[in-house]
Amino acid sequence: MGYVREVCDYLARTSPAQAEFYQAAQEVLMSLRPLMEKYPKYQEHKIIERIVEPERQILFRVNWTDDKGEIHINKGYRIEFNSALGPYKGGLRFHPSVNAGVIKFLGFEQIFKNSLTGLQIGGGKGGSDFDPKGKSDNEIMRFCQAFMSELYRHIGATTDVPAGDIGVGGREIGYLFGMYKKLANSYEGVLTGKSLLWGGSLARTEATGYGAVYFAKYMLEDRGETLKGKRCVVSGSGNVSIYTIEKLYQLGALPITCSDSNGMIYDEDGIDLALLKELKETKRVRLNEYTKSRPNAKYTPVSGYKEGTNGVWSIPCFAAFPSATQNELNAQDAKTLLANGCICVSEGANMPSTPEAVDIFVENKIAYGPGKAANAGGVATSQLEMQQNASMTNWTFEEVDAKLAQIMKNIYTNASATAAEFGDPTNLVMGANIAGFRKVADAMIEQGLV
Ligand code: GLU
Repeated sequence: MGYVREVCDYLARTSPAQAEFYQAAQEVLMSLRPLMEKYPKYQEHKIIERIVEPERQILFRVNWTDDKGEIHINKGYRIEFNSALGPYKGGLRFHPSVNAGVIKFLGFEQIFKNSLTGLQIGGGKGGSDFDPKGKSDNEIMRFCQAFMSELYRHIGATTDVPAGDIGVGGREIGYLFGMYKKLANSYEGVLTGKSLLWGGSLARTEATGYGAVYFAKYMLEDRGETLKGKRCVVSGSGNVSIYTIEKLYQLGALPITCSDSNGMIYDEDGIDLALLKELKETKRVRLNEYTKSRPNAKYTPVSGYKEGTNGVWSIPCFAAFPSATQNELNAQDAKTLLANGCICVSEGANMPSTPEAVDIFVENKIAYGPGKAANAGGVATSQLEMQQNASMTNWTFEEVDAKLAQIMKNIYTNASATAAEFGDPTNLVMGANIAGFRKVADAMIEQGLV
């Protein structure tokens, strides 16, 4: 359809340096074509031209001092992309690779992901090119305070509610919240992923990883399969990976890999979860330390990966859980996975597969859950945290986990029913994009040209 192509070309022309944003937008827009053809109202209201433009983007300076007293300057971002369905909602990423295009792609994906949860949340994202690696606790605190000293004026419990993402976990949310509370003189649920001592929700920490495994379970159930007794590969070793591994064990599967930016672990007997938590959550050290306690496991540094590939995807498996970062799985990796018998990919990370890899999964009709559907459990549980804050109550772990499982089931059912409605039942990329888009688009039409 020429019209959708024209909008993509317009984006390529006007956002030339924002490769990740263009990649994310092109995937969504191209898969909307059957919807656009069937319902001319979206074109009449210029919804796709409107939805690719953020409602507001904030770029700010963050200056802070390290432990030696030296001054550092970083870029701070918050993108408030779409508020048709609720307050802007989405995490903050602190990583040296962060730039305007990365934040924009993440914010764009968040619109549709949040819509898919079925909850009242709009799409936003933020972060900084600050590198938390190797920083002391005090440096992390000073950076978070400096970051919040600007961000606080733009956010609020009914306006914009940030949370964590790569490089932002419980510790950072604590420092950010403390500074917000001081500056705004208001104790409110302005951030999610908070500590259980002061307004957090049980199961929020676990939610993204657990959700990605639930999503795989529902995809597989529909095909008469289960994860029980199956070898699974997981990339990354952050919050998403750790709780993906935990839930895989709970469902009787065998997770055998994890990785960080330096290399990967292959532990044939199954990843030692307690050890992984100790190394990554408590000691905050690199993954090569793992083999000191588990000499039978194999550590491969990135330099040992086959040229142009990610070593994790070369390990034969039944199901794969990309849980590290964008574009960590390319066409060659996808072909290797399929050749080794992998029939299920559930994405815990945001946009971990390149467009070519996505095409291979879709064409081969494997059980492929794209990130915006499969990893929506994190943000969905953030919204459950907001609900608890607003009603000044706390739910039990079991209550939150049961709601999470139900939300993941609804997302799967909605995405697969939508895929079937538009003629390609196994194509959850199309199903998730159309289902997520349709709700936001209809809300935008009903709310008028604002
Ligand atoms: N950063 C997570 C995501 O990509 C969670 C966002 C949130 O909880 O607001 O969805």
